Amino acid sequence: MAKVLYIDYERCIGCRACVIGCEECSGHDHLSRMFVDELNPGETVAASPTPCMHCVTPACAESCPVQAIAIADDGTVLSASLEKCIGCKNCTYACPFGIPRVDDVKKVMYKCDMCYDRTSKGRPPMCASVCPTDTIRFVDEHEIKSEPPKEVQFKWDFGGTVIETRTVIGMPDTETNRYGFREGDGVQS
Ligand code: SF4
Ligand code: SF4
Repeated sequence: MAKVLYIDYERCIGCRACVIGCEECSGHDHLSRMFVDELNPGETVAASPTPCMHCVTPACAESCPVQAIAIADDGTVLSASLEKCIGCKNCTYACPFGIPRVDDVKKVMYKCDMCYDRTSKGRPPMCASVCPTDTIRFVDEHEIKSEPPKEVQFKWDFGGTVIETRTVIGMPDTETNRYGFREGDGVQS
């Protein structure tokens, strides 16, 4: 059964261990594929870690003119192939989550591939391994989507275009909504 990233926003303390862990991964050239945004700096440590969302129909791959972005059998959307990528940046414009980056010197895209070298062997990705608060977990996809421990989101409505992601977000309590989180379509409790 496929496993996915489950990110519980409510647990993140903004320590950026996931960013450092990603930077230190072999082959990452000290460039993190994980991004952590502070939600209300100075008022709270609340932060939101964002890796690739691993869309079920990935716009990055669909927009690539040279088919450099492959999708693994388990649905993981891989980073662009070094041999094929021409650095055109189409994927950066197409991705609704703003995830892919292009190295302008090497002319190659890079993004999170969920540590496919590890996850394809059942091991958790580096970000999940180093997170001290269990914000990021590598969990069974079916379990987290059909029997979520709390309100989760994995469908996103971009002006009528609904995108389903394999990365699943654990939503904070939206009734208090203190840190700028919003309710969205596809929220499942
Ligand atoms: S390692 Fe965990 S707690 Fe630290 S910033 Fe990343 S997700 Fe948040
Ligand atoms: S989040 Fe962006 S980079 Fe990741 S699979 Fe979806 S479209 Fe591609």
